[in-house]
Amino acid sequence: MARIAIIGAGMAALGALAVFNHHGHQVELFEKSRGTGGRMASKRGQSASWDMGAQFMKANTPAFAAILADWHQQGLIEPWKITPWLIDEDDARPSPDDDIRYVAVPRMTALSRTLAEKASALHTSTRITALHRHDQHWTLESETGDLFDGFDAVVVTTPPAQAEPFVRNSVNLQQACLQSSMLPCWALLLAFDEPLATPFDAAFVHTGAISWLARNNSKPGRDSGETWVVLANHEWSQNCIDHTRPWVEQQLLQAFWNTTGLDALKARESWLHRWLYAFPDNSADTRGYQLDPQQKLVLCGDWLQSASIEGAWLSGQAAATALQAQLSNSRVTGANA
Ligand SMILES: Cc1cc2nc3c(=O)[nH]c(=O)nc-3n(C[C@H](O)[C@H](O)[C@H](O)COP(=O)(O)OP(=O)(O)OC[C@H]3O[C@@H](n4cnc5c(N)ncnc54)[C@H](O)[C@@H]3O)c2cc1C
Repeated sequence: MARIAIIGAGMAALGALAVFNHHGHQVELFEKSRGTGGRMASKRGQSASWDMGAQFMKANTPAFAAILADWHQQGLIEPWKITPWLIDEDDARPSPDDDIRYVAVPRMTALSRTLAEKASALHTSTRITALHRHDQHWTLESETGDLFDGFDAVVVTTPPAQAEPFVRNSVNLQQACLQSSMLPCWALLLAFDEPLATPFDAAFVHTGAISWLARNNSKPGRDSGETWVVLANHEWSQNCIDHTRPWVEQQLLQAFWNTTGLDALKARESWLHRWLYAFPDNSADTRGYQLDPQQKLVLCGDWLQSASIEGAWLSGQAAATALQAQLSNSRVTGANA
């Protein structure tokens, strides 16, 4: 059995955790936020809650389809039965497809919370700031100066800019970080006292500032009040990255009413979130991970596979499988020495 530290508690981390658990390792998760899920996050307001990151998950591969089927059977996720609309400069129209879109119930973070229970320890509100390696073992240092030592291997699942400081002694891993970048996304969350009379529950938008609109309460298991999630497109988000929050909120609200064609109503509650590292700009390595076999240090995350929950999960699993092979090799070599 090895002791393994995973930095981050998003879907890449949880994909890796599942593989390590299968091999009987002892795994500790270190997460800077108060909860698990990373970009598969939910926001709880005073009178409402929303999925403010990933909106749904779907499978493009048989491997992830099997995972979704398993989570569905366990009651962790449910299909979100919608016909998405497409809104562009010309018109708004239904855009049916055969995709099965799943959501975690009763909110997206519920899935990660359940999956993280399989870790030996979950250290939330713990931002790791440095990694130290002595005598074949790793020590993690947090921003409060706490030290967590005795790990045989470390898995880094953060976006590349946050991962780079941890991998400066591994040329290939550092290169992967430096060659990758992420795009931002402004997200506006709205709650209303009455239902909005839109003909759709969710729409892909190809005009103006917005890229996605969804009636959050149309997802299974959600609270009943009228809630909407509005995601700005990457270009607009990038251009407005440093604008003031009131200005961004005002612009997105205006764009929301323009896009839906409804008369403006006063929102009962709203929340604006800036995702600085929302989506990978490029996928640097389609293997899904970068491993330093000598140091037993591995990088993974959606930015090394594809920009989705599926990409993150498969990346974490590929990284853990590669590290597991390395740990087994070391044991065989050690046993033969
Ligand atoms: C607005 C938005 C909408 C999206 N919509 C969809 C969708 O509908 N469907 C879909 O499939 N995908 C969607 N995605 C993409 C999907 O959310 C991501 O691809 C996936 O969640 C990434 O998982 P990850 O584990 O690779 O990274 P993350 O979820 O970012 O996990 C990394 C974790 O590391 C933590 N961390 C960072 N630095 C440190 C540190 N120093 N110490 C400790 N912890 C640290 C972070 O807090 C985070 O929890 C969306 C993303 C966004 C932002």
